[in-house]
Amino acid sequence: MLHPESYDVIVIGGGHAGTEAAAAAARAGARTLLLTQNVETIGQMSCNPAIGGIGKGHLVKEIDALGGVMARAADRAGIQFRVLNSRKGPAVRATRAQADRSLYKSAVRALLQGIPRLTIFQQAVDDLVVERDRIAGVVTQMGVRFRARAVVLTTGTFLGGRIHIGLSNYEGGRAGDPPANALAARLRDLGLPVGRLKTGTPPRLDGRTLDYSAMTAQPGDEPVPVFSFLGDPHEHPRQVPCHITYTNGRTHDLIRSALDRSPMYAGVIEGVGPRYCPSVEDKVVRFADRERHQIFVEPEGLDTYEVYPNGISTSLPFDVQWDLVRSIAGFERAVLTRPGYAIEYDYFDPRALRPSLETRCIAGLYFAGQINGTTGYEEAAAQGLIAGINAARSLDDHEPWWPRRDEAYLGVLIDDLVTRGVTEPYRMFTSRAEHRLLLREDNADLRLTPVARRLGLVDDARFARFEAKRDAIAREQSRLAATRVRPGMLSEDEARAALGGPLAREATALELLRRPEVRYADLIRVAGAGPGIDDPEIASQLEIQAKYAGYIERAREEIERGMRHEDTRLPSDLDFQGVHGLSAEVRQKLAQHRPATLGQAARISGVTPAAISLLLIHLKRRS
Ligand code: FAD
Repeated sequence: MLHPESYDVIVIGGGHAGTEAAAAAARAGARTLLLTQNVETIGQMSCNPAIGGIGKGHLVKEIDALGGVMARAADRAGIQFRVLNSRKGPAVRATRAQADRSLYKSAVRALLQGIPRLTIFQQAVDDLVVERDRIAGVVTQMGVRFRARAVVLTTGTFLGGRIHIGLSNYEGGRAGDPPANALAARLRDLGLPVGRLKTGTPPRLDGRTLDYSAMTAQPGDEPVPVFSFLGDPHEHPRQVPCHITYTNGRTHDLIRSALDRSPMYAGVIEGVGPRYCPSVEDKVVRFADRERHQIFVEPEGLDTYEVYPNGISTSLPFDVQWDLVRSIAGFERAVLTRPGYAIEYDYFDPRALRPSLETRCIAGLYFAGQINGTTGYEEAAAQGLIAGINAARSLDDHEPWWPRRDEAYLGVLIDDLVTRGVTEPYRMFTSRAEHRLLLREDNADLRLTPVARRLGLVDDARFARFEAKRDAIAREQSRLAATRVRPGMLSEDEARAALGGPLAREATALELLRRPEVRYADLIRVAGAGPGIDDPEIASQLEIQAKYAGYIERAREEIERGMRHEDTRLPSDLDFQGVHGLSAEVRQKLAQHRPATLGQAARISGVTPAAISLLLIHLKRRS
């Protein structure tokens, strides 16, 4: 066999997990090889051309704060930007970008090509080289052997992938790409805990055949938001609107009458699908009383007439897809350009991973992305970043790093996966985080960029910009706290305009900013309270931190109480049978989940506070 070269880290797969993993490993100092089936599909969006949304936008901002690729690519490729939940509290506000599919891919590739120490090679990987329970390299389809001390596997839906359209099905990694069957068989041989999941995608439409006058236009936000901390609206390509239409009774009748030819309902598909992103046939069956379902009509890009009808993912036979599409307002003359389909694939139980995303059974082998039972580009990218960082850190025996649940949505994601596992494709929601008010999109940089700097992921220019922002906020907070505003300083009109009413007694400007109705921009115009800072991002940060200070403080206290033992490590060789007083059920659960910390142990269902105390006593005796 050929034996061309050795690397520190090899990343298999150029999807959303693989690209972040490769970028993070290389930035953290590792000589990294990204091996992927097809270089032209690096950064390809397999399904909807959009980045972010509720919960997912938080992940993107965190990936960015840690020096990742996704937000910067979204800024270069986004053709419509919106902040969802903009009228709700800051914790649940979330950025979403409709992306030009091909611009997104190019942006990811360009960003990767700019990273030193990162090499890209096109070949499918068929085999892993394992020497005495430790990864030693990989073997490609044509027999090229690459050695590495750490390998990150991010093969998405490709392992044992089977595509379903109606009752016909065939092998595939996603439409147009081959599956990774040799690698899937190899992983099953290694005895990793494997299951089957499924996901689906809608047919695509020829936008020239749609009647947009029958739909509602949905423009993007003004001013146009950005995703990255380094982003600038001038980077965005031309912005375009999306549209909204709905299914109707006729669509639902067509679907019901074809259920016997649905692979889902005929029992041909065994894998479990995403409950929160159901196919249109699932929606019609599960919500039988609903008269209509919303469809977002999203352009696939600026240089293509293809349109993505978001909301009608389906694996019904193609003739039914054609008819159901044409039953929808505005789609009466629609021509389909690609069929919708479902795909079933192998995933591996993430409880077999450490929080660093290293497999417990093969040292140096990391898993990230859809392979771990998640769905979504953002969830995949988040895991890729963590796996890439830790693969690089393992080379010098540095402690692995992952954020806690109260530090980042990334921490929530990792902890949910490795301690709870998945029963269906896992996607992020703000409701999964206990400490939502601390984990806002707007403070992702303040939470994570200092850590990223310590991990070697952030360059000088970015860190200098971050420090300038952080210091400006701190300086302005001190100034506001030291600035006293007295009733006599404002006229009645000024007080009404800036404070919403007369000022009864002297207060600091910071106290005034805590009032819900006071805006920073108005406050600094009050005589004696200015001059302030004319930067909307800093102004918004000052407002949020002031107005929610009480809640934030309480959340911090709660975390500290719970955290006293959160980070206490459980040795990886701990024999739970030897822990005095634990019930057989708790012993079994701990042995199955193998939590890395006491905090993780506490979150396993059935592991009681009493069991945690017994573990603590045991640890103290051992030490
Ligand atoms: P992928 O993006 O799939 O990337 C895998 C990469 O690995 C590819 O580059 C591939 O070429 C490469 N590869 C595979 N095998 C090998 C090998 N042996 N050697 C080398 N390279 C290899 N997400 C949602 O959020 N909502 C949805 O509704 C949704 N629907 C989907 C519908 C379909 C049909 C598909 C296919 C995906 C859908 N997704 C959806 C999921 C979304 O596409 C994935 O979550 C995301 O792409 C996962 O990223 P990843 O990096 O883990 O894998």
